This record gives sequence, C-alpha cells and structure tokens, in this order.
Amino acid sequence: MNGRKKLLVATHNQGKVREYAALLSGLPVDLLSLDDLGITHDVEETGTTFRENAWLKAHTYSRLGEMLTLSDDSGLEVDALGGEPGVHSARYGGDACHSDEERVDLLLSNLQGVPWERRTSRFLCFIAICDPGGVEVSVVGSVAGMIQYQPEGNLGFGYDPVFYLPTFGRTIAQIPLAEKNLISHRGDAVHRAAIALGRLVGGS
Ligand code: IMP
Repeated sequence: MNGRKKLLVATHNQGKVREYAALLSGLPVDLLSLDDLGITHDVEETGTTFRENAWLKAHTYSRLGEMLTLSDDSGLEVDALGGEPGVHSARYGGDACHSDEERVDLLLSNLQGVPWERRTSRFLCFIAICDPGGVEVSVVGSVAGMIQYQPEGNLGFGYDPVFYLPTFGRTIAQIPLAEKNLISHRGDAVHRAAIALGRLVGGS
C-alpha cells in the first residue's frame, strides 16, 4: 500500500481542480474531478449560507463518488446590504445582470449614498470535506475589505475591482494572483483545509 488517498474535488471546473492540486501538493492525495468520475448530476445550491451549500455538495458527491470529497462555496458579504449578495454572489441581480461588470454596477448602485465607514465587507470561502463513511470536516476562510465607489484594476474576477484592501491601499483587482492567493478568502480556507486533510490522510 503506497498510502495515497483519492480526493474528489466536487467541481466541473478543471481550473479549480488544478488550483487545489497545486495548493495540496504536499499531501498524499490524488485529486479527481466530477468529470474524471463521469458524474453529471448537478447539486442545486439551495442553501441560505455558504456553509449549507458546501455541505450539500460534499455530502451528495461523496456518496455518488464513493470517496473522500472536498467542496467549496464562496462569495461576498456587504454589511450595509444585510450580508447581500452572499450566496447569491454569482447570480446577483438574476436575469437582469449578464456579466461581472453588471453585477458590480448593481452593487454600487445599491450602495449609493452609503458613506465610506459603512462600506465594510468580506469575501468568505467555506470548504466542506466529507466521506461516505461519515468523516466530516469544515473550514472557513475570509478576507476583510471596503467596497469602494468606483471599480479599479483589471486583474482577478467578480467583485475584485471594487474590493479595497486597506492594508494594500489597492483593490484586489490591482494585485497579482500570486499575492491574492496569499491573502484571499480562498487561500485562507485552503490553508486550513490542507491542515485538516493532512490529519485525515497523513503527510505534511
Ligand atoms: P464560487 O463559489 O467560487 O463559484 O464563487 C461564487 C461567486 O462569488 C463568484 O461568481 C463571484 O461572484 C464571487 N466570488 C467568489 N470568490 C471571489 C473572488 O475571489 N473575487 C471576486 N469575486 C468572488
């Protein structure tokens, strides 16, 4: 037995699988995606929190794939909007918004008149790890920032151009990906997940 374990990363997005493969390279795990296993079933993200959605996917896919499974859910919470867009981050504005730019515009118009000190927000990333035998671990990562008045920068994606990082004096869309990964909600969550996985499967 070489001691390596299979880990299903519950996504159809190969880019995400590659990202996780790089971030978890110190662990004795071989990563597989839903496509690698021929799983076409789509879990509807009906949860009202990132936590619920991540668990929904981890539970379902660990049973379908019959192996240790990692799933994530992430998005932006803005305090002045009662936590919105939250779990609706990817589809904020529904059919009225067709692009990240339109969703950013909607966010800014919903924040019109809100002064700087009340524009606090955070990106959150929740990771759930589950296996069919009942092992369950979850971690959350976050990064705090302010929603600035106008988009700036063209790196990153989603709400990055309006997410101002006070410690950097710039938006996330103005810092290179390698730096973003060091401070982002996803980087934070993956770091914690790697520690939890290390305990489950052994290795560094
Ligand atoms: P997912 O859970 O990774 O698919 O992310 C859901 C949505 O949250 C994305 O479509 C984006 O709108 C938003 N989001 C998540 N992470 C980021 C980020 O790092 N930058 C900007 N937007 C993000």
